[in-house]
Amino acid sequence: MKKITYKTPIVEMQGDEMTRILWDGIKELLLEPYVKLNTEFYDLGLENRERTADKVTSDAAEAIKRFGVGVKCATITPNAQRVEEYKLSEMWLSPNGTIRAALDGTVFRAPIMVKGITPYIPTWTKPITIARHAYGDVYKNAELSVGAGGECELSVRYADGRTERKPIYKFGEHGGVIQGVHNKDDSIASFARSCFNYALDTAQDVWFGAKDTISKTYDHRFKDIFAEVYEREYKPRFDEKGIKYEYSLIDDSVARVVRSNGGFIWALKNYDGDVMSDMVATAYGSLAMMTSVLVSPDGKYEYEAAHGTVTRHYYRHLKGEETSTNPIATIFAWTGALARRGKTENNAALVDFAERLERACIATVERGIMTGDLACIFKRDGVTARTVTSREFLKAINATLQEI
Ligand code: NAP
Ligand code: MG
Repeated sequence: MKKITYKTPIVEMQGDEMTRILWDGIKELLLEPYVKLNTEFYDLGLENRERTADKVTSDAAEAIKRFGVGVKCATITPNAQRVEEYKLSEMWLSPNGTIRAALDGTVFRAPIMVKGITPYIPTWTKPITIARHAYGDVYKNAELSVGAGGECELSVRYADGRTERKPIYKFGEHGGVIQGVHNKDDSIASFARSCFNYALDTAQDVWFGAKDTISKTYDHRFKDIFAEVYEREYKPRFDEKGIKYEYSLIDDSVARVVRSNGGFIWALKNYDGDVMSDMVATAYGSLAMMTSVLVSPDGKYEYEAAHGTVTRHYYRHLKGEETSTNPIATIFAWTGALARRGKTENNAALVDFAERLERACIATVERGIMTGDLACIFKRDGVTARTVTSREFLKAINATLQEI
């Protein structure tokens, strides 16, 4: 059989632990037999990050800017225990954080849906894609404990000597706490553009919610920038595609999301996104079925699984055990990247292959063959779930792929 080819490389970032093992299995059994992979390879495994003093991560980020499409395996974010375990010379930063900062990107997370795994909210028949603003607010705050009688104000000093002040609160006989947060107009505008680009790309509406009635300057700025960017740069293209942008108050937005059928992008401020993404991921059934893509405001895409390196399974693997680790989100990271490359090069064969591989994953589970994490929540009339090892599962997906 003739392998599918494409011209511009995809940036391939290998990672750590169990997902590193799955990565090689996916390439060997599901990709290389069908596609002549053309990749710029970066090994982001912790050992190589240590060897290169983490230069490999920034090199990979630069390569994504150059080639426009990347696919990344899960990686360890070092903590004190990892520094010890891997004898690190430094506690290297989170690779995802480094790449996100380099691309000024927004992360979109969406569940992979299969029949037999029902969301806790059964009306959610389509995926909800969460877009979380990844800059500022309470994540870059300044906080103080304030004693009794403390008088607190906001103050801004400009280079020309001008100052602006506003009282926050004058504490009485009991003290308390205060907090200062900020965000930047250009970061908010980049966030809006990433959301609108992704909406055009996936033909979905965008919902954005904030609390502008209470926060008349801060949250209102988010609302205004979204509206301006939309009207000025996106409205005609949205109209043409038949999709819309809608703003509502965050509490109203939550209520409408719960009542909805899914099928839209939910753009959220940093803290709201942090909280709601865990709620939405859990409600859809399994973290192992959640995809994640980083999109820059100028349209660079980096695909990965939302889960980590599945350390517990890896330690069992090291003892010689065959594990039943779910490779689906990592496979979808590859199909996302291949389909994206297919679109940038008008390569219908590549787009078609990526779509077929996704359907093969879903069909394999729906027929009852799956990894352990899914088997314990799978319920489908007339189908009994059979738990297989990761490698058996990849082979079963390949068998399905050849049929459909
Ligand atoms: P994790 O790797 O997501 O795994 C947490 C647990 O969730 C696993 O022990 C497993 O549960 C279940 N799970 C996750 N993915 C699964 C899969 N594909 N198949 C089956 N079960 C799956 O999170 P973690 O253990 O907190 O973190 C491990 C490492 O990953 C850390 O070093 C962290 O820094 C890193 N991490 C990286 C990323 C990233 O690169 N994007 C994201 C998050 C975490 P059971 O053990 O009960 O089977
Ligand atoms: Mg969280």
